[in-house]
Amino acid sequence: MTEFSGNEHRTWHVLPVSEVLAALGSRAGGLAAAQARHRLGACGPNEISASEGVSLWRLLLAQFRSLIVWILVVAAIVSGILGEAVDAFAILAIVVLNAAMGFYQEYNAEKSIAALRRMAAPQAKVLRDGRVTAVAASEVVPGDVLALEAGDLVAADARLLASTAFSCVESALTGESEAVDKDAGAACACETPLADRLNMVFMGTSVATGTARAVVTATGMGTELGRIAQLIETGEEDTPLQKKLDAFGRVLIWATLGIVALLFLLGYLRGSAPFELFLGAVSLAVAAVPEGLPAVVTVALALGVSRMARRRALVRSPPAVETLGSTTVICTDKTGTLTAGEMTVRALYVAGQAFEVTGEGYAPDGEVLAGGGAPDVRQREVLLELASVLLGCNNARLAEKDGMWSAVGDPTEAAMLAAGAKAGGDPDGFDAAMPRVHEIPFDSDRKLSTVVRRMPDGTARALVNGAPDVLLERCTRILAPEGVRPMTDGDRRNIAAQNAAMASQALRVLGSARRDLDDAVLSAALARECSGPASHPSDPSPHAPNAIEQGLTFIGLCGMYDPPRPEAGEAVARCRAAGIRVVMITGDHPHTAAAIARELGISAEGQAVSGAELNAMSDEELARRVAGIDVYARVTAEHKLRVIRAWKEGGAVVAMTGDGVNDAPAVKGADIGIAMGRSGTEVTRQASDMVITDDNFATIVDAVEEGRGIFDNIRKTLQYLLAGNTGELLLMAVCVIIGLPVPLLPIHLLWINLVTDGLPALCLATDPIDPEVMQRRPRSRTEGITDGSFLGGMFLTGVLTASVAFAAYLLALDGGSVETARSWAFTVLVVAELLRSFGARSATRPVWRASVTSNMNLLLVVALTLGAQVLSQHNELLGRFLKTVHIPAADAVLLFALGAIPLLVLEGVKVMGRVFSERGMKS
Ligand code: ADP
Ligand code: MG
Repeated sequence: MTEFSGNEHRTWHVLPVSEVLAALGSRAGGLAAAQARHRLGACGPNEISASEGVSLWRLLLAQFRSLIVWILVVAAIVSGILGEAVDAFAILAIVVLNAAMGFYQEYNAEKSIAALRRMAAPQAKVLRDGRVTAVAASEVVPGDVLALEAGDLVAADARLLASTAFSCVESALTGESEAVDKDAGAACACETPLADRLNMVFMGTSVATGTARAVVTATGMGTELGRIAQLIETGEEDTPLQKKLDAFGRVLIWATLGIVALLFLLGYLRGSAPFELFLGAVSLAVAAVPEGLPAVVTVALALGVSRMARRRALVRSPPAVETLGSTTVICTDKTGTLTAGEMTVRALYVAGQAFEVTGEGYAPDGEVLAGGGAPDVRQREVLLELASVLLGCNNARLAEKDGMWSAVGDPTEAAMLAAGAKAGGDPDGFDAAMPRVHEIPFDSDRKLSTVVRRMPDGTARALVNGAPDVLLERCTRILAPEGVRPMTDGDRRNIAAQNAAMASQALRVLGSARRDLDDAVLSAALARECSGPASHPSDPSPHAPNAIEQGLTFIGLCGMYDPPRPEAGEAVARCRAAGIRVVMITGDHPHTAAAIARELGISAEGQAVSGAELNAMSDEELARRVAGIDVYARVTAEHKLRVIRAWKEGGAVVAMTGDGVNDAPAVKGADIGIAMGRSGTEVTRQASDMVITDDNFATIVDAVEEGRGIFDNIRKTLQYLLAGNTGELLLMAVCVIIGLPVPLLPIHLLWINLVTDGLPALCLATDPIDPEVMQRRPRSRTEGITDGSFLGGMFLTGVLTASVAFAAYLLALDGGSVETARSWAFTVLVVAELLRSFGARSATRPVWRASVTSNMNLLLVVALTLGAQVLSQHNELLGRFLKTVHIPAADAVLLFALGAIPLLVLEGVKVMGRVFSERGMKS
């Protein structure tokens, strides 16, 4: 085998498959894993733009990009030149400390985000060592054989080796949104344009229908997509919140600079020393500008996102975290999300008779009972007819391990396998005895699935399973007790009644039918499937009736039970308490949907609106009625999009789940598109904002809770920091205006701002979620983070802290030295800020109702900084650094009491607010 090197550009579409494989040093069975590793080293990762890792240097430099840092450095140099060595050293120490802390936090944040991004990165299925293996798309190398099916993203440029009913959407490359039929056997000339190379697939496109194998011809920048250097993903962007905060921060900077300049001028006119004034002004500017904010937001988002990942929700775009918290409506799938997705057939209906099915799970051992007893010979015969469709039109497999049976493939089909076995069929012997000739896979819009088999006598037979109502429309004959005969209206009514009865017991019902095909129909159907769309411009879409699924003979029904997930009911109740509407959207029968909805408490009366009713509704009518509809049944992906639009029209923030290929537009159209990690397709995953790795509805609700928690944390951190700054600014301004000496020295301001405020702020940003967060109404989307109540709280807090510090300052100044007065004001301010950090943890819950130990970091930080304050009394070096004088114990107690006042007042306000809001709720 020749060893392959690098991405060469060749006319892969012209060469025969054997030559392509030879040139790529590959085989139809794919590469060996070791070989693929070697090639990955040689060709590089399969990526369009080399993604930047976390660069330590870049991060470190970023810490010194802010203007404030440079102002401080200049201030330190000036102090040094003027011989104020302690000042110069103190300022520099604080600059370094601040940078180190910011660096550490942001490094951790970036690392965890990068890890998440890897987890959510696209996957590809390739043959390695002869087995289909899922690998990261970036690890695909030339020569790899891709295993492609509907819903997959094509990970690299590749030449088709084999294909069945295969088509791709190539809009990323050609702009054409219609699916293009592809065929491994198509011949292309050298000059055939890209869009017409039907024996090739290209990176960045997606598989719409069918299955195929293809050998990779080019990866990364060597692909067509790479060549036109069209990036699939846009670069990293700030979230709306970060943008808003940036704007808010700019306003603050200019406002404080204005105030500081004014104070400077005032001091100068009063005749203070310019250097003292300069240092004071710089320190005040540093104190008042919340330079820690961007870091706080980054850290809070990153921490929240990795906390969500641990709760099995992968966030793919950071802005989604903010939107999540304001979600007002969750539209969710039923099967596998609200329910366990573990199906067991409980009832069969064939030839006019109903049967019970016993047994648990997917184990094929169980019995089919007729009225409580064993079926007779004639009944066994008709059951076998039903079993042959259940087993013959099936792509799943049952696997046994230590006596436990599980489903491989679609759970619905696996349940049909188990039922078919119980009804007397042989699940394993089918493919050998009756080879497959053709298949039309299940599609949740069409709601039918067909396999055509060659019977032992040489004839062809189509076996069809699907939603009974859809199937019945295609049936003209029926298997009755006396044999096959034309279907009557009475038959249809009986079947519909049976279907409705099963569905009302929360059973998922499927119908089975078959058709003996003559070769003319079969070859016409095959020819239609295999040719390109260009030759059939008027051909109906794949969802329209086709040549095979018509004139069917109805065989029977099977009803399977899919229990609601145990945690789903509780999750629905949590949504209700949080003011979030839960809407079920399913392809299942309205009765089944309504029964499950009642069981989970989604809808009391259990009324479902069907896809047919939706079709009859105009968009305006839907927008009017949408708020009253809890359950949609028998819908297609297109209906999902209409439901989203209708809700959005009323200002709702809508989260929508999706799994199939057809769901991708709805998932994209929702405010929060949620893809299913297990059952979902790659296309839907890449269109989503968030991937739920366990497909569980409760996980969605957990994610909303996290979203709210993150927003909460950012808001309270912001308020805590800004209130602290306001307090310092007020104290300084008042003293300068009434002509007192400045109450705080530069080192005091820097210390408070970066240490006794900055450290608790980081702990607040990473606070555990408030347990009451899901008992509030959703935050309105238009409500900014800095609304009226936010600013009000900030000013009140600022006034309180400034007042107590001012009081201490005046007390000490009266008969004492200015040094003592400064120490007092400084100490009170530090104590007030530290104590207040406990209260800042919740905007509504008083301190004594929260667990102090739930944020150990905060406890530790407060203890340490308070310790430093006490230590500065005993350690001369620290005392000189912080410029504090000795404070006798009795005075210290007084200062501590003064420092506690803001916290006590604010908590009192909280309690009053609670009492009022409770009264308001009662009346
Ligand atoms: P949902 O996922 O919302 O439950 P689906 O689109 O999967 O809805 O299924 C809709 C209907 O299609 C089901 O009620 C069932 O009758 C039928 N159906 C589901 N899966 C299959 C399948 N694999 N083969 C044939 N019919 C199916
Ligand atoms: Mg489904």
